Amino acid sequence: MSGLSRRELIALAAATTSFGFGSLGAGCGVGSTPSKRRTVVVVGAGLAGLGAAAVLRAAGFTPIVLEARPRIGGRVHTVDHFGTKIDLGAAWIHNSRGNPLTAVANAKGLKTVATDYDRLALRKADGSAVSAAIAEEAMAARDRIISALSDQAQDTPRERLAGPLRSEINRQGLTGSAAEVLQWLLGVELPLDVGADPNLLSLEGFDEGDEWNGGPDLLMVGGASQLVAAIAKGTTVRTGAEVVAVRSQGQQVAVTLRSGAIIKASGCIVTVPLGVLKASTIAFDPPLPAATRRAIGRISVGVLDKVFLDYSQARWPRDAVALGTVGESLAKTVSVFPLERVTGKALGVGFIGGAYAVELERAGPAAMVEAVVERMGQGFPELATPRGTLSTAWKADRFARGSYSFLGPSATATDRVALGRRSGRVILAGEHTSINRPATMDGAWLAGRAAASRLVDALT
Ligand SMILES: Cc1cc2nc3c(=O)[nH]c(=O)nc-3n(C[C@H](O)[C@H](O)[C@H](O)COP(=O)(O)OP(=O)(O)OC[C@H]3O[C@@H](n4cnc5c(N)ncnc54)[C@H](O)[C@@H]3O)c2cc1C
Repeated sequence: MSGLSRRELIALAAATTSFGFGSLGAGCGVGSTPSKRRTVVVVGAGLAGLGAAAVLRAAGFTPIVLEARPRIGGRVHTVDHFGTKIDLGAAWIHNSRGNPLTAVANAKGLKTVATDYDRLALRKADGSAVSAAIAEEAMAARDRIISALSDQAQDTPRERLAGPLRSEINRQGLTGSAAEVLQWLLGVELPLDVGADPNLLSLEGFDEGDEWNGGPDLLMVGGASQLVAAIAKGTTVRTGAEVVAVRSQGQQVAVTLRSGAIIKASGCIVTVPLGVLKASTIAFDPPLPAATRRAIGRISVGVLDKVFLDYSQARWPRDAVALGTVGESLAKTVSVFPLERVTGKALGVGFIGGAYAVELERAGPAAMVEAVVERMGQGFPELATPRGTLSTAWKADRFARGSYSFLGPSATATDRVALGRRSGRVILAGEHTSINRPATMDGAWLAGRAAASRLVDALT
Protein backbone atom coordinates (compact mmCIF):
# COMPACT_ATOMS: atom_id res chain seq x y z
CA MET A 1 0.00 0.00 0.00
CA SER A 2 2.67 2.49 -1.07
CA GLY A 3 4.40 2.18 2.30
CA LEU A 4 1.49 3.90 4.04
CA SER A 5 -0.92 2.23 6.44
CA ARG A 6 -4.64 2.65 5.88
CA ARG A 7 -4.82 5.01 8.87
CA GLU A 8 -2.01 7.14 7.41
CA LEU A 9 -3.81 7.23 4.09
CA ILE A 10 -6.96 8.47 5.76
CA ALA A 11 -5.00 11.19 7.54
CA LEU A 12 -3.45 12.07 4.19
CA ALA A 13 -6.86 12.15 2.55
CA ALA A 14 -8.18 14.50 5.23
CA ALA A 15 -5.15 16.77 4.92
CA THR A 16 -5.29 17.00 1.13
CA THR A 17 -8.94 17.22 0.39
CA SER A 18 -8.71 19.08 -2.86
CA PHE A 19 -6.69 19.48 -6.01
CA GLY A 20 -5.26 22.93 -5.48
CA PHE A 21 -8.34 24.65 -4.11
CA GLY A 22 -8.82 26.03 -0.62
CA SER A 23 -12.10 27.42 0.64
CA LEU A 24 -14.24 28.41 -2.30
CA GLY A 25 -16.58 30.75 -0.46
CA ALA A 26 -20.33 30.60 -0.77
CA GLY A 27 -20.55 33.85 -2.68
CA CYS A 28 -21.80 33.62 -6.24
CA GLY A 29 -20.70 35.37 -9.36
CA VAL A 30 -22.76 37.76 -11.43
CA GLY A 31 -26.00 36.21 -12.50
CA SER A 32 -26.35 33.68 -9.69
CA THR A 33 -29.48 33.80 -7.66
CA PRO A 34 -29.28 33.78 -3.87
CA SER A 35 -31.05 30.43 -3.75
CA LYS A 36 -28.31 28.76 -5.80
CA ARG A 37 -25.75 29.87 -3.30
CA ARG A 38 -26.57 27.13 -0.87
CA THR A 39 -27.65 24.52 -3.34
CA VAL A 40 -25.62 21.41 -4.08
CA VAL A 41 -26.50 18.80 -6.69
CA VAL A 42 -26.06 15.22 -5.57
CA VAL A 43 -25.90 12.73 -8.45
CA GLY A 44 -27.23 9.32 -7.41
CA ALA A 45 -29.56 8.30 -4.60
CA GLY A 46 -27.77 5.25 -3.24
CA LEU A 47 -26.50 5.26 0.31
CA ALA A 48 -23.60 7.60 -0.56
CA GLY A 49 -25.85 10.17 -2.21
CA LEU A 50 -28.50 9.98 0.49
CA GLY A 51 -25.84 10.20 3.21
CA ALA A 52 -24.38 13.26 1.49
CA ALA A 53 -27.80 14.88 1.18
CA ALA A 54 -28.48 14.47 4.90
CA VAL A 55 -25.19 16.18 5.83
CA LEU A 56 -25.88 19.01 3.36
CA ARG A 57 -29.31 19.59 4.84
CA ALA A 58 -27.93 19.61 8.38
CA ALA A 59 -25.38 22.23 7.27
CA GLY A 60 -28.12 24.48 5.89
CA PHE A 61 -27.64 23.62 2.22
CA THR A 62 -30.37 22.51 -0.14
CA PRO A 63 -29.43 19.24 -1.84
CA ILE A 64 -30.93 18.54 -5.25
CA VAL A 65 -30.67 14.77 -5.52
CA LEU A 66 -30.83 13.47 -9.09
CA GLU A 67 -31.36 9.75 -9.57
CA ALA A 68 -31.42 8.03 -12.96
CA ARG A 69 -33.54 5.06 -11.86
CA PRO A 70 -37.21 5.26 -10.99
CA ARG A 71 -36.31 4.36 -7.39
CA ILE A 72 -33.80 5.23 -4.69
CA GLY A 73 -31.28 2.85 -3.06
CA GLY A 74 -29.00 1.94 -5.99
CA ARG A 75 -27.29 -1.33 -5.17
CA VAL A 76 -29.56 -1.76 -2.15
CA HIS A 77 -32.79 -3.02 -3.67
CA THR A 78 -35.45 -4.93 -1.78
CA VAL A 79 -38.32 -6.24 -3.92
CA ASP A 80 -41.59 -8.03 -3.27
CA HIS A 81 -41.29 -11.47 -4.81
CA PHE A 82 -42.33 -15.02 -3.92
CA GLY A 83 -44.80 -13.45 -1.45
CA THR A 84 -42.03 -11.92 0.65
CA LYS A 85 -39.29 -9.28 0.59
CA ILE A 86 -35.94 -10.22 -0.95
CA ASP A 87 -32.72 -8.27 -1.43
CA LEU A 88 -31.42 -8.26 -4.99
CA GLY A 89 -28.39 -6.24 -3.91
CA ALA A 90 -26.86 -5.69 -0.48
CA ALA A 91 -28.47 -7.61 2.36
CA TRP A 92 -26.11 -7.94 5.33
CA ILE A 93 -24.95 -5.39 7.86
CA HIS A 94 -21.41 -6.73 8.16
CA ASN A 95 -19.55 -6.72 11.52
CA SER A 96 -22.64 -5.49 13.30
CA ARG A 97 -20.84 -4.42 16.46
CA GLY A 98 -19.71 -0.87 15.81
CA ASN A 99 -21.16 -0.74 12.31
CA PRO A 100 -23.10 2.55 12.28
CA LEU A 101 -25.86 0.93 10.22
CA THR A 102 -26.66 -1.31 13.18
CA ALA A 103 -27.66 1.83 15.07
CA VAL A 104 -29.84 2.89 12.12
CA ALA A 105 -31.51 -0.54 12.10
CA ASN A 106 -32.03 -0.45 15.86
CA ALA A 107 -33.44 3.09 15.82
CA LYS A 108 -35.93 1.96 13.20
CA GLY A 109 -36.81 -1.11 15.27
CA LEU A 110 -35.82 -3.52 12.49
CA LYS A 111 -35.86 -7.20 13.28
CA THR A 112 -32.53 -8.77 12.41
CA VAL A 113 -31.24 -12.33 12.02
CA ALA A 114 -27.58 -13.12 12.77
CA THR A 115 -25.54 -15.26 10.36
CA ASP A 116 -23.11 -17.88 11.62
CA TYR A 117 -21.03 -18.69 8.55
CA ASP A 118 -19.50 -21.80 10.09
CA ARG A 119 -22.83 -23.65 10.13
CA LEU A 120 -22.28 -25.16 6.71
CA ALA A 121 -23.95 -28.12 5.06
CA LEU A 122 -21.48 -29.36 2.45
CA ARG A 123 -21.94 -32.34 0.19
CA LYS A 124 -19.94 -34.00 -2.51
CA ALA A 125 -21.24 -34.17 -6.07
CA ASP A 126 -22.47 -37.74 -5.45
CA GLY A 127 -24.77 -36.46 -2.69
CA SER A 128 -22.75 -37.84 0.20
CA ALA A 129 -22.15 -35.54 3.16
CA VAL A 130 -18.80 -33.95 3.93
CA SER A 131 -17.95 -34.97 7.47
CA ALA A 132 -17.55 -32.35 10.20
CA ALA A 133 -13.91 -33.39 10.67
CA ILE A 134 -13.09 -32.81 6.97
CA ALA A 135 -14.92 -29.48 6.97
CA GLU A 136 -13.00 -28.39 10.06
CA GLU A 137 -9.68 -29.44 8.57
CA ALA A 138 -10.41 -27.36 5.46
CA MET A 139 -11.61 -24.36 7.48
CA ALA A 140 -8.42 -24.39 9.54
CA ALA A 141 -6.38 -24.49 6.32
CA ARG A 142 -8.42 -21.59 4.90
CA ASP A 143 -7.73 -19.52 8.02
CA ARG A 144 -4.00 -20.24 7.81
CA ILE A 145 -3.97 -19.27 4.12
CA ILE A 146 -5.80 -15.99 4.74
CA SER A 147 -3.44 -15.11 7.56
CA ALA A 148 -0.33 -15.92 5.46
CA LEU A 149 -1.64 -13.88 2.50
CA SER A 150 -2.46 -10.99 4.78
CA ASP A 151 1.15 -11.02 6.05
CA GLN A 152 2.46 -11.13 2.48
CA ALA A 153 0.21 -8.19 1.57
CA GLN A 154 2.28 -5.99 3.88
CA ASP A 155 5.46 -6.74 1.91
CA THR A 156 4.26 -7.05 -1.68
CA PRO A 157 0.81 -5.43 -1.79
CA ARG A 158 0.64 -5.15 -5.57
CA GLU A 159 1.55 -8.73 -6.29
CA ARG A 160 -1.14 -10.67 -8.15
CA LEU A 161 -2.94 -12.92 -5.67
CA ALA A 162 -3.00 -16.05 -7.84
CA GLY A 163 0.66 -17.10 -7.34
CA PRO A 164 0.92 -16.70 -3.55
CA LEU A 165 -2.53 -18.27 -3.17
CA ARG A 166 -1.50 -21.33 -5.16
CA SER A 167 1.67 -21.69 -3.05
CA GLU A 168 -0.28 -21.41 0.18
CA ILE A 169 -2.86 -23.95 -0.98
CA ASN A 170 -0.06 -26.37 -1.89
CA ARG A 171 1.67 -25.75 1.44
CA GLN A 172 -1.44 -27.03 3.26
CA GLY A 173 -1.05 -30.42 1.56
CA LEU A 174 -4.77 -31.21 1.67
CA THR A 175 -6.02 -34.03 -0.54
CA GLY A 176 -9.34 -35.65 -1.45
CA SER A 177 -12.51 -34.14 -0.02
CA ALA A 178 -10.62 -31.76 2.26
CA ALA A 179 -8.93 -30.21 -0.79
CA GLU A 180 -12.33 -29.89 -2.51
CA VAL A 181 -13.85 -28.22 0.53
CA LEU A 182 -10.90 -25.83 0.68
CA GLN A 183 -11.56 -24.78 -2.94
CA TRP A 184 -15.20 -24.10 -2.06
CA LEU A 185 -14.29 -22.12 1.06
CA LEU A 186 -11.78 -20.01 -0.89
CA GLY A 187 -14.40 -19.48 -3.58
CA VAL A 188 -16.64 -17.96 -0.92
CA GLU A 189 -13.79 -15.63 0.11
CA LEU A 190 -12.88 -14.61 -3.44
CA PRO A 191 -15.43 -14.58 -6.28
CA LEU A 192 -18.34 -14.53 -3.84
CA ASP A 193 -16.97 -12.03 -1.36
CA VAL A 194 -14.71 -9.78 -3.43
CA GLY A 195 -16.45 -10.44 -6.74
CA ALA A 196 -13.13 -11.25 -8.42
CA ASP A 197 -10.90 -14.19 -9.28
CA PRO A 198 -7.34 -14.50 -7.89
CA ASN A 199 -5.75 -13.64 -11.26
CA LEU A 200 -7.35 -10.17 -11.18
CA LEU A 201 -6.90 -9.36 -7.52
CA SER A 202 -3.76 -8.09 -5.77
CA LEU A 203 -2.63 -9.21 -2.33
CA GLU A 204 -3.66 -5.79 -1.02
CA GLY A 205 -7.02 -6.12 -2.74
CA PHE A 206 -7.64 -9.41 -0.95
CA ASP A 207 -6.61 -7.91 2.39
CA GLU A 208 -8.43 -4.61 1.94
CA GLY A 209 -11.03 -3.15 4.28
CA ASP A 210 -11.16 -2.89 8.03
CA GLU A 211 -13.51 -4.64 10.41
CA TRP A 212 -15.72 -2.81 12.85
CA ASN A 213 -15.68 -4.36 16.33
CA GLY A 214 -16.68 -7.84 15.25
CA GLY A 215 -20.20 -9.01 15.95
CA PRO A 216 -22.26 -11.17 13.62
CA ASP A 217 -23.39 -10.13 10.17
CA LEU A 218 -27.09 -9.27 10.27
CA LEU A 219 -29.87 -9.79 7.76
CA MET A 220 -32.93 -7.60 8.11
CA VAL A 221 -36.41 -9.07 8.11
CA GLY A 222 -38.23 -6.99 5.50
CA GLY A 223 -35.01 -6.17 3.61
CA ALA A 224 -32.13 -3.72 3.53
CA SER A 225 -34.10 -1.03 1.69
CA GLN A 226 -35.54 -0.16 5.09
CA LEU A 227 -32.11 1.25 5.95
CA VAL A 228 -32.22 3.32 2.77
CA ALA A 229 -35.67 4.63 3.68
CA ALA A 230 -34.43 5.63 7.15
CA ILE A 231 -31.42 7.47 5.73
CA ALA A 232 -33.51 9.11 2.98
CA LYS A 233 -36.02 10.52 5.44
CA GLY A 234 -36.47 14.25 4.84
CA THR A 235 -34.59 14.26 1.51
CA THR A 236 -36.42 14.90 -1.75
CA VAL A 237 -35.12 12.91 -4.71
CA ARG A 238 -35.81 13.54 -8.41
CA THR A 239 -36.01 10.07 -9.89
CA GLY A 240 -35.78 9.36 -13.62
CA ALA A 241 -33.13 12.11 -13.79
CA GLU A 242 -30.07 10.73 -15.58
CA VAL A 243 -27.11 13.08 -15.45
CA VAL A 244 -24.98 13.27 -18.61
CA ALA A 245 -22.70 16.24 -17.92
CA VAL A 246 -21.19 18.14 -15.02
CA ARG A 247 -19.69 21.51 -15.97
CA SER A 248 -17.92 23.86 -13.61
CA GLN A 249 -18.47 27.46 -14.69
CA GLY A 250 -16.89 30.06 -12.43
CA GLN A 251 -18.60 29.82 -9.08
CA GLN A 252 -21.31 27.49 -10.31
CA VAL A 253 -21.66 23.93 -11.40
CA ALA A 254 -24.11 23.22 -14.23
CA VAL A 255 -25.47 19.69 -14.31
CA THR A 256 -27.13 18.48 -17.52
CA LEU A 257 -29.77 15.76 -17.59
CA ARG A 258 -30.41 13.39 -20.47
CA SER A 259 -33.68 15.31 -20.98
CA GLY A 260 -31.59 18.40 -21.76
CA ALA A 261 -32.55 20.21 -18.56
CA ILE A 262 -29.72 22.07 -16.85
CA ILE A 263 -29.55 22.53 -13.10
CA LYS A 264 -27.15 25.03 -11.58
CA ALA A 265 -25.77 24.90 -8.07
CA SER A 266 -22.74 25.95 -6.09
CA GLY A 267 -21.33 22.43 -5.89
CA CYS A 268 -21.86 18.84 -7.02
CA ILE A 269 -21.30 15.47 -5.37
CA VAL A 270 -21.22 12.63 -7.89
CA THR A 271 -22.00 9.27 -6.30
CA VAL A 272 -22.52 7.13 -9.39
CA PRO A 273 -20.81 3.71 -9.19
CA LEU A 274 -17.23 3.26 -10.36
CA GLY A 275 -18.47 1.17 -13.29
CA VAL A 276 -20.51 4.15 -14.49
CA LEU A 277 -17.49 6.45 -14.17
CA LYS A 278 -15.42 3.95 -16.17
CA ALA A 279 -18.04 3.94 -18.94
CA SER A 280 -17.64 7.74 -19.26
CA THR A 281 -21.37 8.27 -19.65
CA ILE A 282 -21.04 11.51 -17.68
CA ALA A 283 -18.92 14.25 -19.29
CA PHE A 284 -16.91 16.38 -16.86
CA ASP A 285 -15.86 19.85 -17.95
CA PRO A 286 -13.14 20.62 -17.06
CA PRO A 287 -12.10 16.97 -17.06
CA LEU A 288 -11.52 15.36 -13.67
CA PRO A 289 -7.91 15.73 -12.47
CA ALA A 290 -5.40 13.31 -13.97
CA ALA A 291 -4.92 11.42 -10.67
CA THR A 292 -8.67 10.89 -10.38
CA ARG A 293 -8.92 9.68 -13.95
CA ARG A 294 -5.99 7.35 -13.39
CA ALA A 295 -7.70 5.99 -10.26
CA ILE A 296 -10.93 5.40 -12.20
CA GLY A 297 -8.92 3.37 -14.68
CA ARG A 298 -6.90 1.45 -12.12
CA ILE A 299 -9.48 0.41 -9.54
CA SER A 300 -11.53 -2.54 -10.76
CA VAL A 301 -15.19 -3.50 -10.47
CA GLY A 302 -16.16 -7.00 -9.35
CA VAL A 303 -19.33 -8.95 -9.91
CA LEU A 304 -21.54 -10.85 -7.50
CA ASP A 305 -24.91 -12.13 -8.65
CA LYS A 306 -27.77 -13.79 -6.82
CA VAL A 307 -30.16 -16.54 -7.89
CA PHE A 308 -33.27 -16.92 -5.75
CA LEU A 309 -34.78 -20.39 -5.56
CA ASP A 310 -38.34 -20.87 -4.33
CA TYR A 311 -39.49 -24.29 -3.11
CA SER A 312 -42.84 -25.63 -1.96
CA GLN A 313 -41.12 -27.05 1.11
CA ALA A 314 -37.81 -26.46 2.86
CA ARG A 315 -35.98 -29.79 2.68
CA TRP A 316 -32.44 -28.64 3.33
CA PRO A 317 -30.58 -29.62 6.47
CA ARG A 318 -32.05 -27.84 9.49
CA ASP A 319 -29.93 -25.06 11.00
CA ALA A 320 -27.59 -24.87 8.00
CA VAL A 321 -26.69 -21.28 7.21
CA ALA A 322 -25.10 -22.10 3.86
CA LEU A 323 -25.20 -25.09 1.55
CA GLY A 324 -22.58 -26.09 -0.97
CA THR A 325 -21.72 -28.86 -3.40
CA VAL A 326 -17.95 -29.21 -3.38
CA GLY A 327 -15.76 -30.57 -6.17
CA GLU A 328 -15.49 -27.55 -8.48
CA SER A 329 -12.64 -25.07 -8.80
CA LEU A 330 -12.91 -22.03 -6.56
CA ALA A 331 -13.78 -19.83 -9.55
CA LYS A 332 -17.02 -21.76 -10.05
CA THR A 333 -18.08 -21.82 -6.42
CA VAL A 334 -21.81 -21.69 -5.82
CA SER A 335 -23.31 -21.37 -2.36
CA VAL A 336 -26.95 -21.22 -1.32
CA PHE A 337 -28.21 -19.51 1.81
CA PRO A 338 -31.59 -20.68 3.07
CA LEU A 339 -33.74 -17.62 3.77
CA GLU A 340 -36.37 -19.30 5.92
CA ARG A 341 -35.42 -17.52 9.11
CA VAL A 342 -35.60 -14.12 7.42
CA THR A 343 -38.59 -14.57 5.11
CA GLY A 344 -40.57 -17.40 6.71
CA LYS A 345 -40.59 -19.02 3.25
CA ALA A 346 -38.93 -22.08 1.74
CA LEU A 347 -36.63 -19.80 -0.18
CA GLY A 348 -32.89 -19.91 -0.80
CA VAL A 349 -30.47 -17.45 -2.37
CA GLY A 350 -27.62 -18.76 -4.48
CA PHE A 351 -24.43 -16.76 -5.07
CA ILE A 352 -22.03 -16.75 -8.00
CA GLY A 353 -19.24 -14.26 -8.60
CA GLY A 354 -16.25 -13.09 -10.59
CA ALA A 355 -15.67 -14.14 -14.20
CA TYR A 356 -18.15 -17.01 -13.81
CA ALA A 357 -20.93 -14.55 -12.99
CA VAL A 358 -19.95 -12.34 -15.94
CA GLU A 359 -20.03 -15.38 -18.25
CA LEU A 360 -23.44 -16.48 -16.95
CA GLU A 361 -24.88 -12.96 -17.21
CA ARG A 362 -23.86 -13.02 -20.88
CA ALA A 363 -25.48 -16.41 -21.34
CA GLY A 364 -28.75 -15.07 -19.90
CA PRO A 365 -30.97 -15.63 -16.83
CA ALA A 366 -32.00 -19.17 -17.80
CA ALA A 367 -28.36 -20.27 -18.06
CA MET A 368 -27.50 -18.61 -14.77
CA VAL A 369 -30.38 -20.29 -12.94
CA GLU A 370 -29.56 -23.62 -14.56
CA ALA A 371 -25.89 -23.41 -13.50
CA VAL A 372 -26.85 -22.83 -9.87
CA VAL A 373 -29.66 -25.39 -9.77
CA GLU A 374 -27.62 -28.06 -11.51
CA ARG A 375 -24.60 -27.58 -9.27
CA MET A 376 -26.61 -27.53 -6.07
CA GLY A 377 -28.83 -30.39 -7.26
CA GLN A 378 -25.80 -32.70 -7.49
CA GLY A 379 -25.15 -32.52 -3.76
CA PHE A 380 -28.72 -31.81 -2.71
CA PRO A 381 -31.19 -33.59 -5.04
CA GLU A 382 -33.98 -31.96 -3.01
CA LEU A 383 -32.84 -28.58 -4.44
CA ALA A 384 -33.01 -29.71 -8.07
CA THR A 385 -36.56 -28.60 -8.76
CA PRO A 386 -37.41 -25.12 -7.54
CA ARG A 387 -40.93 -23.98 -8.42
CA GLY A 388 -39.79 -20.41 -9.04
CA THR A 389 -36.51 -18.60 -9.67
CA LEU A 390 -35.20 -15.06 -10.03
CA SER A 391 -31.68 -13.95 -10.92
CA THR A 392 -29.78 -10.67 -10.94
CA ALA A 393 -27.40 -9.20 -13.54
CA TRP A 394 -25.50 -6.40 -11.81
CA LYS A 395 -22.81 -6.19 -14.46
CA ALA A 396 -25.39 -5.62 -17.21
CA ASP A 397 -27.27 -3.03 -15.12
CA ARG A 398 -26.34 0.25 -16.83
CA PHE A 399 -26.60 2.32 -13.66
CA ALA A 400 -24.37 -0.07 -11.68
CA ARG A 401 -22.10 -1.82 -14.25
CA GLY A 402 -20.86 -4.26 -11.64
CA SER A 403 -21.38 -5.07 -7.99
CA TYR A 404 -18.55 -3.34 -6.11
CA SER A 405 -14.96 -2.19 -6.44
CA PHE A 406 -11.73 -4.03 -5.70
CA LEU A 407 -7.99 -3.46 -6.08
CA GLY A 408 -6.09 -5.31 -8.79
CA PRO A 409 -2.30 -5.23 -9.22
CA SER A 410 -2.33 -1.82 -10.93
CA ALA A 411 -4.14 -0.07 -8.07
CA THR A 412 -3.48 0.77 -4.42
CA ALA A 413 -5.58 2.33 -1.67
CA THR A 414 -3.90 5.64 -2.59
CA ASP A 415 -6.03 5.53 -5.74
CA ARG A 416 -9.15 5.48 -3.58
CA VAL A 417 -7.87 8.66 -1.90
CA ALA A 418 -7.37 10.28 -5.32
CA LEU A 419 -10.85 9.17 -6.37
CA GLY A 420 -12.49 10.90 -3.43
CA ARG A 421 -10.45 14.11 -3.54
CA ARG A 422 -12.39 17.31 -4.20
CA SER A 423 -11.73 19.03 -7.51
CA GLY A 424 -12.95 22.58 -7.15
CA ARG A 425 -16.70 22.37 -6.60
CA VAL A 426 -17.01 18.76 -7.70
CA ILE A 427 -16.34 15.71 -5.57
CA LEU A 428 -16.87 11.99 -6.18
CA ALA A 429 -18.16 9.64 -3.47
CA GLY A 430 -19.43 6.10 -3.09
CA GLU A 431 -18.26 2.73 -1.86
CA HIS A 432 -15.32 3.02 -4.28
CA THR A 433 -13.97 6.07 -2.40
CA SER A 434 -14.06 4.34 0.99
CA ILE A 435 -10.62 3.32 2.23
CA ASN A 436 -11.71 1.39 5.32
CA ARG A 437 -14.92 -0.16 4.08
CA PRO A 438 -15.07 -0.36 0.28
CA ALA A 439 -17.75 -2.59 -1.24
CA THR A 440 -20.13 -2.17 1.68
CA MET A 441 -23.29 -0.25 2.51
CA ASP A 442 -21.73 1.41 5.54
CA GLY A 443 -18.62 2.35 3.53
CA ALA A 444 -20.79 4.02 0.88
CA TRP A 445 -22.91 5.86 3.42
CA LEU A 446 -19.92 7.18 5.38
CA ALA A 447 -18.06 8.12 2.19
CA GLY A 448 -21.07 10.18 1.04
CA ARG A 449 -21.29 11.91 4.40
CA ALA A 450 -17.56 12.66 4.46
CA ALA A 451 -17.63 14.08 0.92
CA ALA A 452 -20.52 16.37 1.83
CA SER A 453 -18.69 17.63 4.92
CA ARG A 454 -15.63 18.43 2.83
CA LEU A 455 -17.67 20.29 0.23
CA VAL A 456 -19.55 22.22 2.92
CA ASP A 457 -16.22 23.24 4.47
CA ALA A 458 -15.00 24.45 1.10
CA LEU A 459 -18.17 26.37 0.31
CA THR A 460 -18.54 28.18 3.62
C1 LIG B 1 -25.32 -8.34 -5.22
C2 LIG B 1 -24.73 -7.40 -4.19
C3 LIG B 1 -24.65 -7.81 -2.88
C4 LIG B 1 -24.11 -6.95 -1.92
N1 LIG B 1 -24.10 -7.34 -0.62
C5 LIG B 1 -23.74 -6.47 0.34
C6 LIG B 1 -23.97 -6.79 1.71
O1 LIG B 1 -24.53 -7.85 2.04
N2 LIG B 1 -23.57 -5.88 2.64
C7 LIG B 1 -22.99 -4.70 2.30
O2 LIG B 1 -22.63 -3.92 3.21
N3 LIG B 1 -22.81 -4.34 0.99
C8 LIG B 1 -23.18 -5.20 0.02
N4 LIG B 1 -23.08 -4.85 -1.29
C9 LIG B 1 -22.41 -3.57 -1.64
C10 LIG B 1 -23.33 -2.35 -1.45
O3 LIG B 1 -24.56 -2.59 -2.07
C11 LIG B 1 -22.69 -1.13 -2.07
O4 LIG B 1 -21.35 -0.97 -1.60
C12 LIG B 1 -23.43 0.18 -1.78
O5 LIG B 1 -24.82 0.00 -1.79
C13 LIG B 1 -23.01 1.22 -2.79
O6 LIG B 1 -23.68 2.45 -2.53
P1 LIG B 1 -23.33 3.72 -3.41
O7 LIG B 1 -24.18 4.82 -2.94
O8 LIG B 1 -21.85 3.91 -3.44
O9 LIG B 1 -23.71 3.30 -4.91
P2 LIG B 1 -25.15 2.92 -5.51
O10 LIG B 1 -25.98 2.28 -4.47
O11 LIG B 1 -24.92 2.18 -6.75
O12 LIG B 1 -25.77 4.35 -5.82
C14 LIG B 1 -25.40 5.08 -6.95
C15 LIG B 1 -26.66 5.64 -7.59
O13 LIG B 1 -26.29 6.42 -8.74
C16 LIG B 1 -27.32 6.22 -9.71
N5 LIG B 1 -26.81 6.62 -11.03
C17 LIG B 1 -25.97 5.93 -11.84
N6 LIG B 1 -25.71 6.65 -12.95
C18 LIG B 1 -26.41 7.81 -12.84
C19 LIG B 1 -26.55 8.98 -13.66
N7 LIG B 1 -25.91 9.10 -14.83
N8 LIG B 1 -27.37 9.98 -13.23
C20 LIG B 1 -28.03 9.89 -12.04
N9 LIG B 1 -27.93 8.80 -11.24
C21 LIG B 1 -27.12 7.79 -11.62
C22 LIG B 1 -27.62 4.74 -9.60
O14 LIG B 1 -28.86 4.43 -10.19
C23 LIG B 1 -27.59 4.55 -8.09
O15 LIG B 1 -28.87 4.72 -7.51
C24 LIG B 1 -23.63 -5.67 -2.29
C25 LIG B 1 -23.73 -5.26 -3.62
C26 LIG B 1 -24.28 -6.11 -4.56
C27 LIG B 1 -24.41 -5.64 -5.99
